[in-house]
Amino acid sequence: MPTKPIDRLLFAQGGLCFFCQRTLAPSDATVEHLVASANGGSNHPDNTVACCRALNTLLGRMSLKEKLRVVLNQKGEFRCPNGSAAPSKSPATQSTAQRLALVVADLRKRGAARPRTVKTLSSTIGALFQKQLTEHEVAALLGKLKAQGIVSVSGTKVTYELPPSVA
Ligand SMILES: [Zn+2]
Repeated sequence: MPTKPIDRLLFAQGGLCFFCQRTLAPSDATVEHLVASANGGSNHPDNTVACCRALNTLLGRMSLKEKLRVVLNQKGEFRCPNGSAAPSKSPATQSTAQRLALVVADLRKRGAARPRTVKTLSSTIGALFQKQLTEHEVAALLGKLKAQGIVSVSGTKVTYELPPSVA
């Protein structure tokens, strides 16, 4: 029998991601706590699933309610936001969840060099998607980042609280 929790979960899920049900390579498999550890979620199998790393990163420490919203927003065609692995994908066909994951990954990469104002953050997001998003779409992404507590705006200034890379 597999002994590590991630191996047990993968086995129980038939080697598929819990959310997108695609074959999940062990190297890309992460333990997702449905109720995030940061919110007191346990390591018990009832609270954990194996899923794609990119989605785990995106879900971060959202509440279970917010996570359900993310899943439901995909309208039964759930795709984990493994967008950074497929740069050829046009921004026009990316879901909001995929876009958000890309933005979070980009902000994480920037470290201390993250944009400090709403204006530069907006243009950073625009550039990240090769300027193919409308102003409205960029604003919507910014709204999501704020709603998830990843970005806080005070006047024109921006501060960040990126989710831990593995929740
Ligand atoms: Zn997946």
